[in-house]
Amino acid sequence: MRENPQLVLKKYFGYDVFRPMQKSVIQTVLAKQDCLVLMPTGGGKSLCYQVPALVLPGISVVVSPLIALMKDQVEALLANGIAAGYLNSTLAAQEQYELENKCLAGEIKLLYVSPEKLLSAGFFSFLKRLQVNLFAIDEAHCISAWGHDFRPEYTLLRHIKEQFPAVPIIALTATADRLTRLDILKQLGLPQAQVFVSSFDRPNLNLAVMPAKNRFKAILDFLQTHKNQPGIIYCLSRNSTEQLAQKLMGEGYKAIAYHAGLPAPTRSRAQDAFLKDNVQIVCATIAFGMGIDKSNVRWVIHYNLPKNIESYYQEIGRGGRDGARAGALLFYSYADVMRLRDMLKEGNPEQATLQLAKLERMQQFAEAATCRRKILLQYFGETVEKDCGNCDNCHNPPTTFDGTLLAQKALSAVARTQEKANMGLLIDVLRGARNQAVLQKGYDKIKTYGAGRDLSALDWQSYLQQLLNAGLLEIAYEEGYALKLSARSREVLFQNQKVKLVKFQPTTEKPAEKEER
Ligand code: ADP
Ligand code: ZN
Repeated sequence: MRENPQLVLKKYFGYDVFRPMQKSVIQTVLAKQDCLVLMPTGGGKSLCYQVPALVLPGISVVVSPLIALMKDQVEALLANGIAAGYLNSTLAAQEQYELENKCLAGEIKLLYVSPEKLLSAGFFSFLKRLQVNLFAIDEAHCISAWGHDFRPEYTLLRHIKEQFPAVPIIALTATADRLTRLDILKQLGLPQAQVFVSSFDRPNLNLAVMPAKNRFKAILDFLQTHKNQPGIIYCLSRNSTEQLAQKLMGEGYKAIAYHAGLPAPTRSRAQDAFLKDNVQIVCATIAFGMGIDKSNVRWVIHYNLPKNIESYYQEIGRGGRDGARAGALLFYSYADVMRLRDMLKEGNPEQATLQLAKLERMQQFAEAATCRRKILLQYFGETVEKDCGNCDNCHNPPTTFDGTLLAQKALSAVARTQEKANMGLLIDVLRGARNQAVLQKGYDKIKTYGAGRDLSALDWQSYLQQLLNAGLLEIAYEEGYALKLSARSREVLFQNQKVKLVKFQPTTEKPAEKEER
């Protein structure tokens, strides 16, 4: 006899109602239809397959790449009285053997496996001896080279549908843009799947971006407005997590570092301390946060630019899970863009092109002068009409001005340096610096030399970035990051096409998170 989903929800999980999308997903799965579920982190994806697994007879197989989390997930299920188990490379042979026997005896309802285990020799034949009624594929974006976390071994998961054509598959992910979604379905061989996309809007998150100047000071200001509130600072390097934690402790904050290079016990102590509110701040690399269920994280700071919008969204999504207000502050610098570019370029060429394009979208988000939430949601395929009223650009709309003359000076300097100068050198030329690089190349003789000395180097940096973003300039990455004219530059140089720029405001004039006071 089949149990009713509603009763299962109450009996095993203690909840009274399904969230709107959970209900339709579960109905679809129970009707034996394949589906793809996109829900932001914390949206409640797990119940979408756990409830059907308990309603259906037989066993359900959950494929997850997060080996480190499997044990916790399974223990949580066991604690709720659900017969669950996991198979992955961390288990001893004897443990595997025992669990497999339990599966054969029909004593397991939910079996978690790593992709490696699933695809290992003989495993499909083992599964065929069981009554498998559902496959769930967690973190499904890993199957797509379009996604931000491509794992080649995931592509072999297409064999599931070939081997078990009658068993429904539910694929789940928190992050997939439109292309990635289509690709997931293609890769898994699920052309008929129903796609469920829940809104990615997290209206309680305040979004803000600041230039990465005097970051430490800006963080201290920020912390003044977030007294005793737990939060995470994401850094790009392991080193900076440790340095930053040290500096914060020096200022009297309870801070701790977390990265994959720390010994496991140190990491779990850090995680524990944060969960129990014994430390206020975790300075972490992206290794931190996966599967951490702390609902009252009140703020997330990105010390460095994330490499794409998916990662950014996932990381800020760890804030404000309880629905109360939380702040997301991103520090943006061009130096980070360069650093990430260099890192991404090292991958295989096809992947690199894609990842560079994603980085460019991230950069555009950081430099945007319009409602940031609109841009974010648009990225995930949601079009919203109204500005959100809860981001920095909505609170303090940036002032724009007619930057045509300024743009003309810059573009003309690019032309006259034969498109060979990188940003730093071009700024020196515009500002009339008399340093060796300038003099050696004879740039002090060109007509635009010193034409922009009325502006600071930081001003110029901002305006050149804006020109890059607007497609009025390009960067030749292979040629020492030299700035080049684009097809559209001509319109500005020769046809007097107007250019609007956003007034550059140095950090000190822009108070952090004013609205949160
Ligand atoms: P995701 O996998 O999408 O990040 P989870 O499945 O871990 O999200 O769920 C996030 C949190 O929401 C968990 O604490 C879960 O118990 C809770 N949750 C999920 N569904 C419901 C529901 N219908 N009612 C109340 N809480 C729920
Ligand atoms: Zn907004």
